[in-house]
Amino acid sequence: MTTVPISLPETRRYVLANARVPAGLADGLPAGTQTDLEGSAKLDLLIEAGQVAAMFPAGSAPDEPPSVDLEGRQVWPCFVDMHTHLDKGHSIPRIHPDGTIHGGFSLTVQDWQHWSPDEMTLRMDFALLCAHVHGVSAIRTHLDSVTLPQAARGFAVFAERRAAWAERVDLQGVAITGIDTFLSPLGRDLADLAASHGGLLGGVTDTLERGENGTYETLDQALDRMFELAGERELDVDLHVDQTADLAAFTIPNIARARIRSGFKGKVVCGHCVNLSLQPPEVVESTLTLARDAGLSFVSMPTPMMYLMDRQKGRTPRWRGVTAAKEIMAAGLPLAIGGDNCRDAWFAYGDHDMLDTLKQAIRVFQTDEPLTGALEMATRAPADLIGRPDLGRIGAGLPASIVIFSARSVNALLCRDQSDRVVLKRGRQVTGTLPLHHELEQALGLAEHGA
Ligand SMILES: [Zn+2]
Repeated sequence: MTTVPISLPETRRYVLANARVPAGLADGLPAGTQTDLEGSAKLDLLIEAGQVAAMFPAGSAPDEPPSVDLEGRQVWPCFVDMHTHLDKGHSIPRIHPDGTIHGGFSLTVQDWQHWSPDEMTLRMDFALLCAHVHGVSAIRTHLDSVTLPQAARGFAVFAERRAAWAERVDLQGVAITGIDTFLSPLGRDLADLAASHGGLLGGVTDTLERGENGTYETLDQALDRMFELAGERELDVDLHVDQTADLAAFTIPNIARARIRSGFKGKVVCGHCVNLSLQPPEVVESTLTLARDAGLSFVSMPTPMMYLMDRQKGRTPRWRGVTAAKEIMAAGLPLAIGGDNCRDAWFAYGDHDMLDTLKQAIRVFQTDEPLTGALEMATRAPADLIGRPDLGRIGAGLPASIVIFSARSVNALLCRDQSDRVVLKRGRQVTGTLPLHHELEQALGLAEHGA
């Protein structure tokens, strides 16, 4: 047996001995498995041909394969980041975000002129390498689709990158546009385009012209059409919902009713939904009951929302800017978290590290009393929502795409940045290193930040 530092055997079949896997992140724990005080299962993992071939109570794996003693290190499945915008990311320092929703939108529109296929490829590859090295094994990205040429270009670059990164980071693409687009012929074109790329339909539900009573006159019609187009093509739906503190711009009930009305069979994910947490308790409760009846799922992006929401010049925010996460979880509704924007007009920071997103989520949601269900927000929950039940958990017969941390406890794991983590993709160690920001800036022909 070898000990620290971890040196993995080159063989096809080997044992990761004395691992600790949080029980919620493991499927099919073998009989006799012991757990520690935090609820982590003490396991030996037999790795074979890129999969976890079998799990054994710690100390009971077969003797004959080469073995590495993990000495009680935390071992998690690779992360899933189900809400990103890879077409926008890493446009800093070309863009100078002002921290507002309005600035995010208008500066992005100004930036579109730079989005050639080569330019987008450089930025997307930077993002994907960051995610890969941090232990993210699947990403869903929204792709700006305001016109058909823009959407076609974005999906073409996306398709190339998906092929280039296959087996390292699996990609899904969502056509994002104003929801009213589905009332125009472009709606059908986008549905066809998304279908041709194995993608999804998305949209923003809180940007329509609002009527006198503060509601959206054409929202229901647009949602009906979107569900019709998605249903015809068997596409899932992933929406940007209520990214505002405005209580009147509250569209979850419309989405739920439209889904029920349509009989749509696919998955429906509602992203953001931040003003849900500002609604009176009885509205939160009735909305979540309706959402459950409609089979809606939720994804929250805590990091950029803390950055964007309740921002006023010269005043410290009074509101945390995130959705009613505890109430969603208590209602038994699926809740995942996502990284969202990264170094672009909407959010100035980020490194595609879902561990960082998870740590921020746990702290801002206060979902640590106990942590039950919280670690799943970055692993099992998003994997299920993107239709990848083989990811986001550790179990026999599943890919050995896992992260080995130096921390022995979940508490220690959530305290340090774990930059020494060891990532395995299909049983083999990821040896790449994080790309350097100044090298991307040089490649993009941008003046360096530090120059
Ligand atoms: Zn988004």
